[in-house]
Amino acid sequence: PWQPGSASRWWLHRSLSALTDSLRRRGSGLIIRSGNSLDQLLRIASSCAATHVFWNRLYEPAIVARDSRIKQALRDAGLHCESANSALLFEPWGLATESGSPYRVFSAFWRKGASELAALAPALPPPEVLPPMPLQLEGAVVERLGLLPRIPWDSGLQESWRPGETGAHEAARRFLGDPVTHYGDRRDLPAVSATSRLSPHLHFGEIGPRQLLWLTRELTELFEPAEPFIRELGWREFAYHLLFHFPATADEPLDPRFRRFSWRSQGADRLLDAWQAGLTGIPLVDAGMRELWHTGWMHNRVRMVAASLLTKNLRLPWQAGSRWFWDTLVDADLASNTLGWQWTAGCGADSAPFFRIFNPVRQGERFDPEGEYVKRWCPELAGLSAKYIHQPWSASAAVLAKAGVELGRDYPAPIVDLAESRRDALAAWGEIK
Ligand code: FAD
Repeated sequence: PWQPGSASRWWLHRSLSALTDSLRRRGSGLIIRSGNSLDQLLRIASSCAATHVFWNRLYEPAIVARDSRIKQALRDAGLHCESANSALLFEPWGLATESGSPYRVFSAFWRKGASELAALAPALPPPEVLPPMPLQLEGAVVERLGLLPRIPWDSGLQESWRPGETGAHEAARRFLGDPVTHYGDRRDLPAVSATSRLSPHLHFGEIGPRQLLWLTRELTELFEPAEPFIRELGWREFAYHLLFHFPATADEPLDPRFRRFSWRSQGADRLLDAWQAGLTGIPLVDAGMRELWHTGWMHNRVRMVAASLLTKNLRLPWQAGSRWFWDTLVDADLASNTLGWQWTAGCGADSAPFFRIFNPVRQGERFDPEGEYVKRWCPELAGLSAKYIHQPWSASAAVLAKAGVELGRDYPAPIVDLAESRRDALAAWGEIK
């Protein structure tokens, strides 16, 4: 049900090409096959007389079910199977409350996780040389998978990213070289490149969290300045913990009261279209949605504000937003996306309470005070001063004319009244709480 979306497929193509090259450099290769996973694995195993199969575990509910079936069937066929953890610091079942139940509160989860970091073994270095591929093994070239878009919309993605292990390690070293020391102060400023941008690399397994932990220790003289960054890796762990223990949450709210929430029925499609296209007339949200469309990524602060506008002011179901992110994010990740959406919509574990509705104007003034981020992605507003850049509708006709902006022509008038829609959202919350 959660096949990779368009941006993820683009990344996967590049990542598989990079993996093919890196295996070749070490004397081996990558075999790409399409079809039923179990059938293909059995065929490969029989054609090279394999006795063992090893893999690293994935944790999305449908994949856990698939891989468990495969493991059993391979064992039944007489193969020795072993899986390992490279994607996470802790197995989702490895941390539990004193009563043995899963955590639902991040601070308690991470108090436990952080106390166990020191005991984690470092990741093994990659082997310099691998045994050559048996000649009889055939596979397709990555192009055959048809992952790239037919209509070329991916130039922004190409400018922004270098998928593959080399790109991942370069990004990590760049970030841990200096920016990490300012991360705690600047991570919320979308105009500044202050975060690691490692999320797609982590999602695709091009770098692992244990490698990052050890690299952080190596590259930052003190571990302490990197603590806020490591804590974010903790949020990623928490997301996997939750999805593993509550597998229905990719589609359904963890808080059952939200099944009765009265989402908007009239005009929903038009509002969703405007939100997706970055044409809501709310500058910070539009800037974020356009950054997403162009680069396949959006700053975390803006993800929260855009998600809050969709689920609270527009009162559209969080699932509509999570599906759009799923298709457009290069870091689309079932666990983190589900957590992010349910957290913002107020229906997940340890969420922002529903009544705390982000005001996108105040958020813009606080985190993008000069409007640099908005101007980068909404250049039609570049003539407005900091006072009006986050609320062009409150500028006088003369101010707008001087900035060369006519609302409704150059830039949309807001599709929703922020104060009124906030009241409506709180009333809808009142009905279910
Ligand atoms: P950094 O700030 O450098 O953080 C380092 C790493 O920690 C990230 O790469 C990521 O793996 C992890 N991390 C940071 N914040 C979070 C978080 N809140 N939740 C889980 N992990 C986190 N992240 C995804 O990886 N995939 C998603 O599909 C995704 N969808 C989101 C949807 C919404 C509505 C929201 C509010 C957040 C979502 N996030 C998602 C979390 C977060 O926005 C991104 O992980 C972060 O912006 C990635 O940028 P970065 O690598 O520069 O992060």
